[in-house]
Amino acid sequence: MNYANLKKFDIADGPGVRVSLFVSGCRHHCRGCFNAVTWDFQYGEPFDDKVEKEIMEALKPDYVQGFTLLGGEPFEPENQAVLAGLLKRIRTAYPKKDIWCYTGYTYDRDLVPGGKVYTEYTDPMLSMIDCIVDGEFIESLKDVTLTFRGSSNQRLIGLRGYQPPEDRKRDHEIKHFSGGNPDR
Ligand code: SF4
Repeated sequence: MNYANLKKFDIADGPGVRVSLFVSGCRHHCRGCFNAVTWDFQYGEPFDDKVEKEIMEALKPDYVQGFTLLGGEPFEPENQAVLAGLLKRIRTAYPKKDIWCYTGYTYDRDLVPGGKVYTEYTDPMLSMIDCIVDGEFIESLKDVTLTFRGSSNQRLIGLRGYQPPEDRKRDHEIKHFSGGNPDR
């Protein structure tokens, strides 16, 4: 897997200060995409142990609330094995930090067994994500007033009842999903 960018002080992609990894590869090709260079799976640099160490180090300070995965498309099947391992190590090392993930796929249609990009790594990834922002970016539904989303079709879904800490509750629109992946 390649990655396009690593931000160590990101305040745009989830609540609080975050470390964010932009992975390479995306088949959605949304019109008006904010990051079209990442469509190419070969774009950027190979994700290796050195980058993972950088992420772990950047997550250390108390002021960092969590980690965000975006792209590109984290749930492209080619990216899932590497990311499932990374998320597990982050979750183990920093159990109190939250993990957010942006995907152009639809949570309850594409990421469930039999879904378009469901693999053996999909549930392990989802089991370590606190909040998923799903759906393609649809330019005609673009709304700059939305919190942490680009277009109004996209949803903030708190997995397993996740709520951001009270003092950082900017994402008041968070939904709690009641269907899909019932085994998790
Ligand atoms: S899913 Fe995200 S990265 Fe992929 S084309 Fe759409 S907006 Fe761009």
